[in-house]
Amino acid sequence: MVLRAIEQRFHEVFPELKGAGKERVFAVRAPGRVNLIGEHTDYNGGFVCPMAIDREMTIVGVPRGDTKIRMHSTLANQTVAFDASAEIAKDGPPWSLYAKGSVEAMRRRGKVKCGFDCLADSSVPLGGGLSSSASFEVATALATLAANDESLDRVELALACQWAEHTYPGVPCGIMDQFISAMGKKGYAMLLDCRDQSRRYVPLDDPNVKIVISNTNVHHELAAGEYGKRRAQCEAAVAAIQKKHAQVALLRDATMEMLDDARGGGDEMDDVTYRRARHVITEIARTVDFAADLENRDYKRCGERMYSSHTSLRDDYEVSCTELDILVEIARGVQGVYGARMTGGGFGGCIVAIVEATAVEKLTAAIDAEYPKRTGKKATTFATVASAGAGKLEWRPSHVV
Ligand code: ADP
Ligand code: MG
Repeated sequence: MVLRAIEQRFHEVFPELKGAGKERVFAVRAPGRVNLIGEHTDYNGGFVCPMAIDREMTIVGVPRGDTKIRMHSTLANQTVAFDASAEIAKDGPPWSLYAKGSVEAMRRRGKVKCGFDCLADSSVPLGGGLSSSASFEVATALATLAANDESLDRVELALACQWAEHTYPGVPCGIMDQFISAMGKKGYAMLLDCRDQSRRYVPLDDPNVKIVISNTNVHHELAAGEYGKRRAQCEAAVAAIQKKHAQVALLRDATMEMLDDARGGGDEMDDVTYRRARHVITEIARTVDFAADLENRDYKRCGERMYSSHTSLRDDYEVSCTELDILVEIARGVQGVYGARMTGGGFGGCIVAIVEATAVEKLTAAIDAEYPKRTGKKATTFATVASAGAGKLEWRPSHVV
């Protein structure tokens, strides 16, 4: 929805606010994201390379005189109300926990003197691997700060939102989603070191290059259980490597030589553990190299690294699925596509491709023609650009209050 429409909807949802302090209305936004490369590296202390996309959550609100918060989500088509004068209960509809966690994180930092009434609208597809959850948390935190004329350091804001996702909906996410939503830059991807949280911005503003996202529109149930298994396998690999290389605390510290050394003749480490660790070690290196290639505007090499990443995730880490593999194969057959890979945890969700601007239509057409034939399903495909991180929206309210 465009801002005017969001504003109008706000007026419909909260008709009783008509006439109350127009000048106090605030609007904030927080984008979704796509990870260009660096998958399953975060919990191994490695690198990721996400960018903010031009799909975002928008919140329009008005501060209240008390500590109550009312939020209407257009996508859930539901309004929740809760009080922020004391610890916020983890109850109500599941979607509301993302907002409650965020407000609670602000409350614990002494940022909530007053509550607010707000409407939350989003163009980030829910559960599609583009991090609607982080955009929701970051937008809610910013709305809370805006209502209270408060501010917060962006790193602290991102960490507070990660805490919210861990503690309220109970999702054990890494730091990537909240960091890029809160600190993305227009025209840049972010190379993020998940071990020390340091960031480097890498230009991605060439008008001749587009990032295309295509959603398989499937999500296989295995995902949660397999995620836990992968983490355990990475820990097992570290334990085996440590026997010979005590300084290795995380796979980030390991090299392929160390891994081969730890495997010995083959009886020291089973093949599955070896392949899991091989993915992580090579993926961390690929991510750093990708950022350097992007800086040099060498999109061909960027693309090759994305294909390698996909192969490694498919064969060594075994987190891909038929639908993702088919989308990557289709992309590979289109002229002007530099590279493509699955993005996100796997077992469904999206692929991301880096393509010549002139090839966007060809790629979309190829996916529309071939994906349904091969899977019986429909994919959703769109082009996007590296967008700005979260912030306040400057605008003049018209319909609201
Ligand atoms: P992703 O972050 O990849 O989109 P998640 O499963 O992490 O997927 O988060 C999706 C969940 O976040 C939704 O099921 C919903 O509970 C919540 N959510 C995100 N955006 C909204 C929104 N605009 N309105 C209501 N709930 C939302
Ligand atoms: Mg999420």
